[in-house]
Parts: sequence; structure tokens; C-alpha cells
Amino acid sequence: MPNIIVRVNSLTTEREDKTQISVNISEIDSLFSHLTTNTPFGAPIIVGVIGKDHATILKQWLVYHGSSTNQSRWQLKFFIKHVDEITGLCDAISQLTDIATHLQDIRDAKINGCHRISLFDGTLSLDLHIGDTAPQLREIVSQTDIKFKSWLITTPTVTEHLTQTDLWQMAKLSHVSASIVQVTPLDIPQHTYLASMCDLCGFEFIALTGGKAETNKELAKTNATQTLNRELALKERCALLRQQQESLNFNPLTPASSGSIAVIGGGVASACLALSLAERGKSISLFCMDGAPGQQASGNKQGAIYPLLTPEHGTLSHFFLQGYLFSRHRIHSLVSQGYPIDHDFCGVLHTGHDARSRARLQKIIAGQPWAMNIAQAVTTEQADAMAGISIDEAGIYYPLGGWVCPHQLTQAALDNASSITDNKLYFNTQVTAIEQLNDKWFLTAVANGNTTRFGPFDNVVLANGRHLTDFPQTRELPISGFRGQVSHIPSRGALSQLNTVLCSHGYLTPNHQGLHCTGASYVKDAPNNEYSHTEQFENLDKIRQSYQGDWTKEIDITGHSARVGVRMVTRDHAPMVGCAPNYDAIMAAYQTHQHTKESIDYWVKTPAPTHKGLFILGGLGSRGLTSGPLSAEILAAQMCGELLPTTTDILTLLNPNRMWLRKLLKGKALI
Ligand SMILES: Cc1cc2nc3c(=O)[nH]c(=O)nc-3n(C[C@H](O)[C@H](O)[C@H](O)COP(=O)(O)OP(=O)(O)OC[C@H]3O[C@@H](n4cnc5c(N)ncnc54)[C@H](O)[C@@H]3O)c2cc1C
Repeated sequence: MPNIIVRVNSLTTEREDKTQISVNISEIDSLFSHLTTNTPFGAPIIVGVIGKDHATILKQWLVYHGSSTNQSRWQLKFFIKHVDEITGLCDAISQLTDIATHLQDIRDAKINGCHRISLFDGTLSLDLHIGDTAPQLREIVSQTDIKFKSWLITTPTVTEHLTQTDLWQMAKLSHVSASIVQVTPLDIPQHTYLASMCDLCGFEFIALTGGKAETNKELAKTNATQTLNRELALKERCALLRQQQESLNFNPLTPASSGSIAVIGGGVASACLALSLAERGKSISLFCMDGAPGQQASGNKQGAIYPLLTPEHGTLSHFFLQGYLFSRHRIHSLVSQGYPIDHDFCGVLHTGHDARSRARLQKIIAGQPWAMNIAQAVTTEQADAMAGISIDEAGIYYPLGGWVCPHQLTQAALDNASSITDNKLYFNTQVTAIEQLNDKWFLTAVANGNTTRFGPFDNVVLANGRHLTDFPQTRELPISGFRGQVSHIPSRGALSQLNTVLCSHGYLTPNHQGLHCTGASYVKDAPNNEYSHTEQFENLDKIRQSYQGDWTKEIDITGHSARVGVRMVTRDHAPMVGCAPNYDAIMAAYQTHQHTKESIDYWVKTPAPTHKGLFILGGLGSRGLTSGPLSAEILAAQMCGELLPTTTDILTLLNPNRMWLRKLLKGKALI
């Protein structure tokens, strides 16, 4: 394919830093129109933006979106080296106040990796990939033909921003006909570099600002050379892709089979999944054993939202930080659309209750240079002032944290999903068996005392909380149910002044509708979900162990008001998100492949067995409000075969088969 130089009039704008950049507004607009052609129905048009001026591209996309009747979905992936560059994006989107504020939070949080923002019912997924471009590109996982259609380069210093390795990574993730579009003018050496790299990696090269036609002439090659280059480039791309896919054999990220999707659930996980799928134009059939959404673990009056930080800030901590920001985004976005969700991002104050927990908090705060909006060390005086009541402990303050009403969040996400796509919701319908016949799934369910068979479905998602392991296909998953009782305390006296969520040996929320919530107890494999007098007193004791103020003496639990639920917890505290592992097939292969170097090689090279068309979204543990919405978004992206909005280490952390495959990849015994 020939390199194309498009010469058009350019429009020069002055940036805040006084450097002049030339951008071709009209040409960007026609480029957006051009990109909508030949995109498979429902697949997003993916555009990468590398350089400095992301704001102009976003502004222009918003103008295009405002005037276009095209219904395409877009993913704009902005590769942002320095978080300060996000300020321009905030200005570009200032009319959407909650999104602009969210962008500021992401900027100030300074967390590397992909931050997803969903706009206009999912018409636009805006991904901010923060950090050096090379690792950001390397981390993007591509499993299908849904790839980048174009890359816009918005800097005149291309050689600084794009190495040959970067360009190959971009090529690996790109559609065969993808282009690299130079938006700002280049001097001759830069232009020569980019044009020849495009040739090498098989990209079409388009320079929107023109004026350097002679460079292209210098580079002009015969058609035969171009064809040869292109064939070599495509072979190299395939090799790079194969390499990535083989490196993930242990973590199959298989998309959903095309067709129908049944979801067994009704809590925050399934509601957020319904929303993420609806934003991709997918409808679901939801089966819920209760009469309404959010009646089990997601049924509390208030749940705390705050990150799960670790001193070394490893993969788990990273995932929870990204999940935390995404949950806030989801809640704000639903509320701004008019869905009623009681919540207050009033901050969370985390203090210790014994020497060990105090030392742990000290290690966390000293372990990383956390951004001020993520975690701040506070003195006892500051803690008292923030809480509005006597805390008398130093600790960590999470300014963006707070509480949300989980069942309202569940209802809102489900309502929003059903306003976008046509979902079928079956309440009071308990699925008792799932069965696969000839690649189709059938559900047996009991509704109002009658047993009914539903199906065929092409895919089934188990987002069914504590009942995840009820089916033969999932019985062996290493995950346990922990009962928890949340006590409700009348808001009286000094306690009513509490104005931030407290977290110590349990949590305590500010007054909501005359009550505070505290808890929760933590009992493994409890026999029932009845109210427990003992756990009610344990909850009170935990408050009194954590805080010494007089207000703790006034706490009244004599009303026996409480709510019991069960959270599903994994040993590593990460959710389970992805393909349902086929335990029987893993065990069968294990009989002949164990304990040896060859067996390790086998598990490295063999795609781990899964149940085709069966997916898991569970194990949200005690932090489901922080991790649930992002987990759902990742699963929806996987099911739809999209580029995944997270890193390979996070995908590995979430893989439902991880407890087994970790051992097999080290040649260790499974049982
Ligand atoms: C006491 C307690 C306190 C908590 N506090 C917090 C907190 O402060 N902050 C926080 O972030 N998280 C908290 N959590 C955790 C959080 O609430 C959970 O992680 C989250 O609600 C789990 O959502 P889920 O959708 O996976 O499960 P659930 O909300 O339990 O939903 C499961 C759904 O599946 C349906 N279902 C199950 N089996 C079937 C079947 N066979 N057929 C049909 N339907 C079925 C059920 O009807 C239900 O609607 C707490 C949990 C508990 C229990």
C-alpha cells in the first residue's frame, strides 16, 4: 500500500505552553467519518492517540459525535506519558462536569495503566493508558480481529515518542489496513523516520498537515518492493501475536460464542455486567432466585468503598486502585443520569486497633509515594477533625473513598442496562442445573414451585455470589463463603456527628436515614443466615476495641437491627473473572503431566481447558463495591472479543483457574 501525503490547509492553535501546533480540524473530522466504513457491526472503532495533544482529538471527536448520525461505537485509546497532559482533556470535556472531575481524579492519582471511562451509553470508551508508551502497548491483549483501525500521532517529535519496538507492538495490535496518521507537521528527518517505519511495519502512512511532499518522493519505492515489505510485515505481526497468545495459554481469554447470553445472578456483579454488555449492544437473560435485585450480599444499606493498598503496591493493590476509580465513575455516571443511588464520597479514615494493624498501616503509607487524593497519613488530631468525633489514633485517610447503597447501585445498573438493550429478567427463578448439549447451554430452574427448562443459550455467566459452587462444573473452585452480619445503630449523640467512613477492626458509616452501619462479622461456612445475638455484640466490641471516645459507650444495639449476607472469598482476595475452568479435564491431563520439567512445558504450551461458553464473575469478597464494576467491564470486553482494558498481570490475577495453574506451571502437586 502506498504512503499517502494529504495536503490540506492547516489550522494553527496556540497551546497554553505557547508552543504552536498545527492541527487539521476538518481532516480529522473526515478521518473519523472514513474510519466508520468497513467496521463489523457492533465492533468498536479503535483509535490510538500518541503524542502530546490528546485534547484536540477528544474535542474533535465530540464535535464529530454531536453531528454524526452514525451509530458506531468508538474506543479512543490515549497513551499519556505524563499525567499533566490530562489537564487538557479535562478542559476539552468540561461541559460533562462529572467526567471532567473524574479525569482530574485520575490525573491527580498518578496511577499507571489503563483507566477506562465510558460515555454516552458506551458509544465512547475513553481509555487513558498512563505511563511509558512501550510497556502500555505491550500490556494490551488482543484475542480476536477487533484491533486498532488507526493511530493518530500528535507530536512533531516522533522519534522521542515512538521506537521501532513500539511501532511493532502497534502493528501487532492493528487491523491489516490500519493507518498511522501524522496530525502535526514534521521536519524532514522525523517525517522520513516515520514514513519508513510505517513501510517496515505494514502501516498506511497519512500526513494530514502536508508541506513535505518531497520527503515522500525521496522514499518512494517500486510497487514490488512495497508488496514484499507488506507481506513480511504481516508475517511479523502474526508471529508477534502468536507469541503473545502462547504466553497466555494458562489464562484462556476466549470470547463468548456469538449469540445469546444467560446470566445467573441479581447482585452488583451481574447488574454491572448487564450494563457493560448493554453498552456493547448485547442483551441478556437474567435469572435471579430472589424477587428483586440486590437481595443477598449486595443488599446492605451502606457499603464502604476504598482501595486495598499494599506496601509493595503489587498487582492486587493496582487492580483495586483502578477498580476504585472505575466504581466511582460508574456511580457518578448513573447518578448524573438520574438513577437514585444513595452514596457519599465523604472519605474513609483507616486506623489500627492493635500493634500489628498499626504497623501494617504504617508500612502501607511509607511503602509508596501515594498521591494525596489516594492516601494520606494523618495524625490523631487530623483524624479527630476529619471524622468529627474522637478517634484518637493516627492512620490513613482515603479522600476519594466513602459509602454507597449496594442494592440501589445494583438496581440502577440493571435499569440502565435495560434502557439500552432489551433484557429479559426472570426473578424468583432459581437455576438448579446447567447443562451443555452440542455447544448450547440449557438451564433447569424452579420458579413458583414449577420446574422449567430454559435455553438453548450460547453462553452462560455465573455471577451468582455465594451459590457459585452449586453446580458440578464449578464445585471444585477454591473459594469459600463467609457469613457477615452488619449491625444497624441509631444515630444519636456524638456519633451523629460522624462525617467520614471509619475503618478499623470493621467499619462504621456516617448517618444515613437515621442509622449507622457497622460490622461485619466474618464466619466461614456458616450453617445459616439467621440474626446472631453474639455477632451483634462482637460488632459492638470491635468498635470499642478500635476507638476509645465516650461516643462508643452510647452505641445502642438493643434494637437487634442487622442484616446478614455471605461474601465469596478467594485465598488471594482477588475476584474470579473469565472462562470457567474445566476441572475434570485439568485433572485428567494432570494424571500424565505432573512433577517433571516436561510437565511444566506441557502446561506452558497447552491452552488450559475451559467449559466453552461458560464464564465466571464471582469471588468479589468483602470489597465487591470497589472491584465489581471493573471486573464486570473486563469480562464484558473479553466476551465481546475486544482489546482488554487492563494488564496481563491483572488478567492472570483474576483468572478463575489460577490456584491450579500456578501450581502446574511450577511442577507442583495439585492435591
Ligand atoms: C455483610 C457484608 C458486608 C459487606 N460490606 C462491604 C463493604 O463495605 N464494601 C464492599 O465493597 N463490599 C462489601 N461486601 C461485599 C459485597 O457486598 C459483595 O462483594 C457483593 O455484593 C457481591 O455481589 P455479587 O453480585 O457477586 O453477589 P450477590 O449480591 O450475593 O448476588 C448474587 C445473586 O445471584 C442470585 N443467585 C444465586 N444463585 C442463583 C441461582 N442458582 N439461580 C438464580 N439466581 C441465583 C441471587 O439471587 C443474587 O441476586 C459485604 C458483603 C457482606 C456479606
